[in-house]
Amino acid sequence: MHYKAFMIKYAEIGTKGKNRYIFEDILCKNINRKLKSLGAFHIRKEQGRIFVEALSAYDYEDVVTALTKVFGIVGICPIVIEEDTAFETIRDRVIEYVDNAYDRKNFTFKVDTRRNDKTYPMTSMEVNAELGHYLLEAYDKLAVDVHEPQEIIHVEIRKVVYIYSITIPGPGGLPVGTNGKAMALLSGGIDSPVAAYMIAKRGVEIEAVYFHAPPFTSERAKQKVVDLACLVADYAGAIRLHVVNFADIQMAIYDNCPHEELTIIMKRYMVKIAEELAKKNDCQCTVTGESIGQVSSQTVYSLSVINEVSTMPVFRPCIGMDKQEIVDISEKIGTYETSIQPYEDCCTTFVAKHPVTKPILSAIEKSERKLEGMIEPMFEKAVETAETIMCRYK
Ligand code: ATP
Ligand code: MG
Repeated sequence: MHYKAFMIKYAEIGTKGKNRYIFEDILCKNINRKLKSLGAFHIRKEQGRIFVEALSAYDYEDVVTALTKVFGIVGICPIVIEEDTAFETIRDRVIEYVDNAYDRKNFTFKVDTRRNDKTYPMTSMEVNAELGHYLLEAYDKLAVDVHEPQEIIHVEIRKVVYIYSITIPGPGGLPVGTNGKAMALLSGGIDSPVAAYMIAKRGVEIEAVYFHAPPFTSERAKQKVVDLACLVADYAGAIRLHVVNFADIQMAIYDNCPHEELTIIMKRYMVKIAEELAKKNDCQCTVTGESIGQVSSQTVYSLSVINEVSTMPVFRPCIGMDKQEIVDISEKIGTYETSIQPYEDCCTTFVAKHPVTKPILSAIEKSERKLEGMIEPMFEKAVETAETIMCRYK
């Protein structure tokens, strides 16, 4: 069926009291942006719901898929909007609606009518009964079940009439742009794109930083991170990815510090640089894909020593998840296939045979003192020369 409109249901943002209109407006804006390349649409708010009306031809599957990627939406209802409120017209439209919406017309149903025009010549109960009767007459395998119907045919009689019954689940969450901005540390792995996705889902805008170490890491490894940022952008909106040249810092650490401490010290510098970029770009927090115990640098001991350099909240939405749970999300959001492409990461290039799993802060700080004097200008240069790439879903 070619629907001309969708009704968008949202839940959590309905609870935001006086700020509610801000959330609704941002959700409308995000829907608008998402649908822009798919046709001409008019988007309007009305009493706790949003209506998307097509002004041009469009591809139904493409539009539904796009809407399932807009955080804040809990349900997408293809809807028929009829301007003539006369009962006979409603009747014909409902019969036509059922014909188009259901391939097999062999379900139980009830009609649920809401009427806000109290001068309408029939009561809701009367409309329910009459429409039920006409539907049974039109389709002989339908049956009414008012207690546990398989389908509820909603008919709302307002200035116009709305007819709908199907709800396609939305992604939930909150509209991106309603909750500040995060700097996500994006590597080429499975975990960090999932982490960025999860923070975006709570309404947070995403920027990202990737630590690149040419010539130890290739252009292809960098392109993989750009590709991942573009995939996450399908949900999070455009992502500004900052690519930091980390090679000098990495070499300095490699040449001057104990190799079993390399990963920890490197991670501490990554966090410091990420925070510097976060501050410069109005982000209030950083995000990583860390999960307790996954690798030696993610034991609780290692995480606490790495975390010690941060001054902003570091959000780690994968922290309590098993690898398989993270993989499941990455498959669902479409990043998995890209994440498993085998390109080297700057951490793996320099990895020690026996990295510490219980680093001691004072020992790490002592090792880092060997870098004093040489690391500061490298740090500044890394921040200043970061390349910014705008990543949009393709
Ligand atoms: P991922 O699957 O996200 O790569 P991982 O399991 O490989 O994670 P680590 O390599 O220990 O784990 O990295 C932990 C986190 O540190 C990553 O999730 C990411 O947020 C950040 N990180 C690691 N390497 C980089 C990098 N080269 N650039 C940006 N962030 C990085
Ligand atoms: Mg990694």
